[in-house]
Amino acid sequence: MSARALLGCIADDFTGATDLANNLVRGGMRVVLSMGLPQDMPDADAIVIALKSRTAPVAEAVADSLAACRWLRAQGARQVYFKVCSTFDSTPRGNIGPVAEALIEELEASMCVVTPAFPEAGRRIFMGHLFVGEQLLSESPMRNHPLTPMTDSNLVRVMQAQLDAGKARKTGMVPYSIVAQGAEKIEQRLNELSAEGLNFAVVDALADADMVELARAVQGHRMMVAGSGLAIGLPAVYGLSPGADAATLPQAQGTRAVISGSCSAASNAQVAAFLRAGGQAWAIDALRIGSGVDLVAEALQWALPKLEADKPVLLYATAAPETVRQVQAALGSEHAGHVIEQIMAGIAHGLVQAGVGQLVIAGGETSGACIQALGIGSMRVGPQIDPGVPWSFAHCASGQPLHVALKSGNFGGIDFFSNAFNRLDESTGIL
Ligand code: ADP
Repeated sequence: MSARALLGCIADDFTGATDLANNLVRGGMRVVLSMGLPQDMPDADAIVIALKSRTAPVAEAVADSLAACRWLRAQGARQVYFKVCSTFDSTPRGNIGPVAEALIEELEASMCVVTPAFPEAGRRIFMGHLFVGEQLLSESPMRNHPLTPMTDSNLVRVMQAQLDAGKARKTGMVPYSIVAQGAEKIEQRLNELSAEGLNFAVVDALADADMVELARAVQGHRMMVAGSGLAIGLPAVYGLSPGADAATLPQAQGTRAVISGSCSAASNAQVAAFLRAGGQAWAIDALRIGSGVDLVAEALQWALPKLEADKPVLLYATAAPETVRQVQAALGSEHAGHVIEQIMAGIAHGLVQAGVGQLVIAGGETSGACIQALGIGSMRVGPQIDPGVPWSFAHCASGQPLHVALKSGNFGGIDFFSNAFNRLDESTGIL
């Protein structure tokens, strides 16, 4: 395969983009992740454009995805990978169906596979039904999601319900009895479905090896709708194999810090482990918001003198559920979230200005706010720390180089904060 074969990816949210990029890098692709449309064409095997389209109004999600698709095609992308959540987060209005239909029209594709399966992460599909671990999707906690409750596990039905009835496109299925026979049989079945007039096909998958076969089966397709699982099979199709090169980042510089604005169970445990190990840490007391104290200035005043040391400093708003409830009662949940994200972003900006060059950020929304405050437009994705969380390298708007790891809430082992820096020591600068 020529070095010019490019995979173009459109992710419907930011941490999903990171997860996808991480899987592609593990398979040997050099990946650049861009926040929105890239300014220019980077040197990479795959480009992941991160959008915020999962829960955006349908028209906006479609317009942003089409713009990304056109940009990727203009750069010569051979295939377009529309990355959705591994629990297929969506509602009967969308946005997966409407975006997929807009892309299939734009690319003049005849058949497109639909698969959030990622067996390694416990997302399996059987007879078109999605399982989360041992539970059907509709019996998993996802049934109570505040924005996208998933109450039907039958993905053929879920996808079909999101398609425009006026356009009469149809969704079918490739059952496991065919998937188990490998790429050629899957491809044959997809061609048959296409000949029968179907446009989308949910494909069963129980093991990661099935994703590898599926990636081979769809190598002639112009697009796919998938979670991050299909990415494990794609680098091989593009003639690439796992190796340290794809994950190599420049030598890390500067001092080290961790910012945690996530209140997930995993982040609470990671903060507690950092404190137990004697790490230097500063808690941002969200109950003092509105008291007239400048919480950013206070946190930076504590942190900056400590940046000389080798050891990372931790600044956290992470709190137990009772405290979060108190803060939300005092400030309103949405307002509290937003204000705290802006405080964390202000701290990130101040730390980087003061010479932090290696920054771990915990929390999906918190990461988004910090990346925006630092003026980072794109990142090269490097080695994995824990499943779904890689180190990346970027330049801030100020021109300052930064190694950054963005951890979404529930990801990462208990010693994630210290492991992250050990991983960076092991892996960067080795060319
Ligand atoms: P996760 O990835 O765990 O969901 P996010 O950063 O996406 O983490 O979301 C966590 C939200 O909780 C953010 O909006 C953050 O500002 C907010 N938050 C952080 N600390 C507190 C706190 N002590 N009280 C209330 N809300 C908080």
